[in-house]
Amino acid sequence: EPRHILVSGGAGYIGSHMVLALLGAGERPIVLDDLSTGFRAAVPAGVPFVEGSSGDAALIGELIERYPIEAIIHFAASIVVPESVAHPLDYYANNTVNARAMLACAVAHGVPHIVFSSTAAVYGEPERVPIDEEQPTAPINPYGRSKLMVEWMLEDAAKAHPISYAALRYFNVAGADPQGRAGQSSRDATHLIKIAVQAALGKRPGIDVFGTDYPTPDGSCIRDYVHVADLAQAHLDALRYLRGGAPSLACNIGYQRGFSVLEVIDTVKRVSGVDFEVRLRERRPGDPASLVATNERAISRLGWTPRYDDLDTIVRHALDWERSLSSRAA
Ligand code: UDP
Repeated sequence: EPRHILVSGGAGYIGSHMVLALLGAGERPIVLDDLSTGFRAAVPAGVPFVEGSSGDAALIGELIERYPIEAIIHFAASIVVPESVAHPLDYYANNTVNARAMLACAVAHGVPHIVFSSTAAVYGEPERVPIDEEQPTAPINPYGRSKLMVEWMLEDAAKAHPISYAALRYFNVAGADPQGRAGQSSRDATHLIKIAVQAALGKRPGIDVFGTDYPTPDGSCIRDYVHVADLAQAHLDALRYLRGGAPSLACNIGYQRGFSVLEVIDTVKRVSGVDFEVRLRERRPGDPASLVATNERAISRLGWTPRYDDLDTIVRHALDWERSLSSRAA
């Protein structure tokens, strides 16, 4: 019987790139998405789509039985740090409670492998940068805590039941499909590169820099920006790793180098050729000063080979996608 991969959140930004990567690898994705932030149109023709919640145990149980599902890649979640500070219980419901339901279904129906979207936010304010996976997890915002609790559930469930998992701790995901088939279509953008390319294309009046007094060289926060296509590839690598019977793991996905907010903005200005207003503002709640991954584990254990480790390329692909959104809307 053919094996299917259930992609929760497959109509969202990262999930839609995952579906393309799965199709490219000859896999059979099934998309489950509640369309709260995703888009039906982001799911390619021919890919089965089910509108529903990843917390709906009856629905997921039915899907697992209908196709045989060999693995679940669980993206469906809320991801905005300041929103999690303002609405923590929504984050625990959507990110933690729903993941528990999904995991319980996997265990109950014998789905052997889970790939989970975790986050650098599980580290909080790290002791050392770059951050390796052995550093303590100590999230400083509800978003990071909502995700870390899922890592704990996975760890405990994998000890008690015949499942294995990879918890991929994403650093800052950005860019768009190099072939222009997918990108970030959020209704309310909050992420830096998305906001900056919108400013460059005149879709918003400039950009705010949240904090210029951090203990970094230029005072703005440093992040490790990862191309979304490389991130999707890391999930394929994780799937192959788990199928090979290798042990469950948590693994950073980043490029082991960081850029400051001001450097990102300068890059967007240079690559787009457009100058736009930059307003220096107060810190945003919940932001650690610097988050940069070590990626030896992803490379050595998952066999991950980054292909787009270049900020100009990430920005160019984000700009290309943002322009294509404008021409579609026009
Ligand atoms: N940021 C900013 N202006 C914006 C959006 C983000 O200065 O309009 C900063 C934010 O404070 C953080 C960095 O950019 O220091 C990355 O934030 P983002 O929301 O993109 O990702 P996060 O690291 O919170 O997941």
